[in-house]
Amino acid sequence: MEQPAVDLELERYARQLRLLGESGQRALKEATVMVAGIGGLGGTAALYLAAAGIGKLILAHEGVIMKPDLNRQILMDTGHLGMERMSTAIAQLKRLNPQVVIEGHNARIEYDAAKPWVESADLVIDARYDFPERYALNRICVDTGTPMVEAAMYGFEISLTTIVPGQTPCLECLYPDVRPQWEPFGFPVLGATSGIAGCLAALEAVKWITRVGTTYAGVMHRFNSLDFSTYSVNITRNPNCACCGEGGTP
Ligand SMILES: [Zn+2]
Repeated sequence: MEQPAVDLELERYARQLRLLGESGQRALKEATVMVAGIGGLGGTAALYLAAAGIGKLILAHEGVIMKPDLNRQILMDTGHLGMERMSTAIAQLKRLNPQVVIEGHNARIEYDAAKPWVESADLVIDARYDFPERYALNRICVDTGTPMVEAAMYGFEISLTTIVPGQTPCLECLYPDVRPQWEPFGFPVLGATSGIAGCLAALEAVKWITRVGTTYAGVMHRFNSLDFSTYSVNITRNPNCACCGEGGTP
């Protein structure tokens, strides 16, 4: 006899229902998360959100799969080298959990194009390495009041905070004026480190959506994956921030 869909879902998520409760699981099912960037960090976050039963994922990342991607981008595989990254990722996520609705954009984050994607999401995960895209995403989140999990890494170091527009510092409060040095191509990264960062981002999203635990809103968390040391510091808004401050817009 065929099981009703609801029973199948209870069975599928049985092991986490004991942690999140049925109300938490329902909140996940009703939530839409935009993951900007599906590389080593964002791809891992998307994978665990799909596994957890998120209702809808909106993904954005431009380009094709290249060999140097494969040390960390676990949604991609050798058989798809040279093919579009986004369609490969969607197929992989659908294999993991066919119940998740996925909207994918083979595109960079640019303000006008990406604003409707952010507007239809309850939460954004910023998993881009490219600072122009990260600033554009931050600006959209500030303008639309959308919370954003800001996850980043450099070398073995991971940082994570959750930006709540109007309440916590935004990306430009943290990195004003001086655009941090970044290497668009060939930045050093180990897959296990980006995977931890992606898991932290997925966990933060689950906590925000289910209201289980405490988020890192207003707190910067740093994790060194070489010696496993961690520390957290409270961070404050910059009243003169060009993006969210009184001199900025809005
Ligand atoms: Zn700001």
